[in-house]
Amino acid sequence: MIFDRKFTRVLHIDLTNKRFYKQDRPELFEKYIGGAGVAIQLLKEECPEGINPFDPQNPIILATGVLNGLFPLASKTTAMFKSPHTGNLGESHAGGRSSIAIKMAGYGAIVIKGKSERPCYIAIHQGKIFFRDATTLWGNKSSISAGHFIRENEPSSGFRTIIRIGHAGERLIPFSCVTTETYRHFGRLGLGAVFGSKNLKAVVVSGKRSLPVADRLQYNKLYDEIFKSATESSLMKKYHEIGTPINVAYLNLSKGLPTRNLKQSHFEEADKISGEAIANGYLGKRLACAHCPVACIHISAIREPYIDEPYFYKTTMVGYDYELIYALGSMLGGSDVQGMMLLIDKIEHAGLDCMTTGVVLSWMTEAFEKGLISEKDTQNVFPKWGDYNAYQEALKLMLEQANDFYVALSKGVSHVSSIYGGKDFALSFGGNEMPGYHTGPAAHLGYLLGARHSHLDNAGYSIDLKNMPTMTLSPSEIAHKIITEEKWRQILSSLVICFFAREIYKPDIVIKALETAGLKLTLDELTSIGTEILKDKYAFKIREGFTFEKLEVPERIFQTPSSVGTINKEFFMESLNSAKEIIKNELLKESVINDE
Ligand code: SF4
Repeated sequence: MIFDRKFTRVLHIDLTNKRFYKQDRPELFEKYIGGAGVAIQLLKEECPEGINPFDPQNPIILATGVLNGLFPLASKTTAMFKSPHTGNLGESHAGGRSSIAIKMAGYGAIVIKGKSERPCYIAIHQGKIFFRDATTLWGNKSSISAGHFIRENEPSSGFRTIIRIGHAGERLIPFSCVTTETYRHFGRLGLGAVFGSKNLKAVVVSGKRSLPVADRLQYNKLYDEIFKSATESSLMKKYHEIGTPINVAYLNLSKGLPTRNLKQSHFEEADKISGEAIANGYLGKRLACAHCPVACIHISAIREPYIDEPYFYKTTMVGYDYELIYALGSMLGGSDVQGMMLLIDKIEHAGLDCMTTGVVLSWMTEAFEKGLISEKDTQNVFPKWGDYNAYQEALKLMLEQANDFYVALSKGVSHVSSIYGGKDFALSFGGNEMPGYHTGPAAHLGYLLGARHSHLDNAGYSIDLKNMPTMTLSPSEIAHKIITEEKWRQILSSLVICFFAREIYKPDIVIKALETAGLKLTLDELTSIGTEILKDKYAFKIREGFTFEKLEVPERIFQTPSSVGTINKEFFMESLNSAKEIIKNELLKESVINDE
């Protein structure tokens, strides 16, 4: 039994009537251990079947896990909602101080429904909930300055998180993100636009409760063990020193770095945008999520001279990681670090998902190159690989929704290519734009079949990289490995552990850690919880219209050599069919499968 009922409480907020109530759901947290496990149950309960993602009844669910606040790197919050970008399951994770603040305020999860008549933000200070007017913040071009305003105007007690959207979310651009603590995001699948559709600018949460543990001595011992692994492991050391951009050079060398809209998988100027080069030339500081000794968040300091003012500079602090460098560097054929960082900065202020924006701009560049779109469509912007001035212009016009083309572009590459052509190089999987790994068939299979179409669902890329330079696994072995990994990741997503610590939180450590929180589970029980959660996610997807038959595979992935050589289409389709069979047999037995 979980010790403290305050952390199994669900806070329900109704924005339409400005009301709230609290519900104790110990059975939910005990059965599903929090995070993704609890969130998918709440989504099933709260999201009416087939609704428009912008319907006020689409819930925003923020769920913490049983280990948040207790152990190092258990630092994330899981958000769940119906995605306006894919029209299906929306799930995104963010760190910062979000999960700790929600728990310290005395809640396990928060569910927000309805729509405020006027722009507002919600302030939750322990047991007190306030609906604040946000009219003056609405329309502000920067999610960062909205955060600053709230920081100055809200009382602070203990841990505090400020979760907010930018201009893009207000304009309902379906790949808008939600920012926490300036440099962390619920990045993918459009949570920002769901906030916008509710006239909700932000949620600020603060609290200073404490967390009980079963056996203080046992807890201290385990805490020290995990802390030691986190600070002494060589992988974590690399994440601290260079951060995830350490992957740029490695993936480039192994021909897995998508470049110029994946016309290439190797960037001839990668050395200029490698993690090492950026750290050497631009690293300003490192930050950490709450309760994380790793501090992998890297912030660059970009200096721009003032015109006619010698020795005077404007310094902009811009966060970066591997996925941003891929999407807004190699994918755009850009090696000018300053130009790339200033583009990232603009996207962050607007509150868009950087990864999707990069893929969208790279599709636009190739479509322009091939004459599928004209300068009339682009309003005299001439997108060219590596030209960051042109990309800044295109971004501005997309945010302004300047004409039909930019409106279509702002709905993602699958949508825009269905109007203007270029499907074969529209790098979208299940409606979500491609992550930064062209490592082989397992990576792409993982994007296609992952419950949220993310590389983080099942890390297919690591299967490819372990098999370089030639894939030695059979299609069905790949399928099995991907699905087994995704089942285990449901446990990490429920606790909610940062995936960078997945090598630390192996099953034996997870079992011991859960015991300190009052939950005694065997490995078999844990495994079946993971399967159950994935099953429920797939059932939700099917309910909302997902079919395997609708999945599109962009031809481009079969044309450009990957880390394990050129991907054979037949081999790939065989692994896809094999994975479909496993999902149908193991996860969907009782669900209605639309494409049968
Ligand atoms: S490793 Fe990085 S992303 Fe993960 S919890 Fe620590 S600071 Fe946050």
